[in-house]
Amino acid sequence: MKYFIFSDIHGNLEALQAVLEAYSKECPDCKPICLGDIVGYGPNPKECIHEIRSRKILSLAGNHDHAAIGKIDISYFNPYAKDAVLWTKSVLSDDEMKFLDSLPIRTVIENMNLVHATPCEPQQWNYLFTLYDAQHNFSCFDTQVCFIGHSHQPIFIIQKETSDCWVHPHPILCFREGWRYIINVGSIGQPRDGNPAAAYAIYDNETHIVELKRIEYDISLTQEKMRKNNLPQYLIDRLEMGR
Ligand code: ZN
Repeated sequence: MKYFIFSDIHGNLEALQAVLEAYSKECPDCKPICLGDIVGYGPNPKECIHEIRSRKILSLAGNHDHAAIGKIDISYFNPYAKDAVLWTKSVLSDDEMKFLDSLPIRTVIENMNLVHATPCEPQQWNYLFTLYDAQHNFSCFDTQVCFIGHSHQPIFIIQKETSDCWVHPHPILCFREGWRYIINVGSIGQPRDGNPAAAYAIYDNETHIVELKRIEYDISLTQEKMRKNNLPQYLIDRLEMGR
């Protein structure tokens, strides 16, 4: 089975559409999986929910999905994220909120754990930024790989048995027996690794090859819609910088 895995759409319809086109072209027989944060930041939360729902894409919940339905406290959100969440909340229907509320926090498929934030405390919405964080998190799942999102920074982290872990510096990786992996697939709608192109991953469970991929989209169109909806200028600017 092949999987087409992506995360952190954040209401960015142009970026989502570009990735879904890549899906149709590159791997139409893949099972698509979204690791959460369908909404928040971007101008098209309703349309992004519609795409995920109508295509019956398996999706997990992210912190922004929970924030937009009032399920978590947003006092720790930065002011830009807070403004965007409140705007998102104001445009969602009851039905769309119910859908976000129905998304699971974690799921396990074949040799994969799937969570938005971290395998140790998926509902604390912690970030996995350092190898120290990764080392701790490897002890919290028992499958060969855990796919995550949340930090918007694509990365492969490897652990050989229980040794120290390290970062694999290339976008393609082939699993080895006895080695385990934490893979961040990056963000569709708001990349933060300096590359503004939308991120996604393709994983082939038979060849055990994972590839982190990028696709460009019309950023200016998303920015124009954000301006029309009075979303914070900082969020508009960061899209083109991928920061
Ligand atoms: Zn996010």
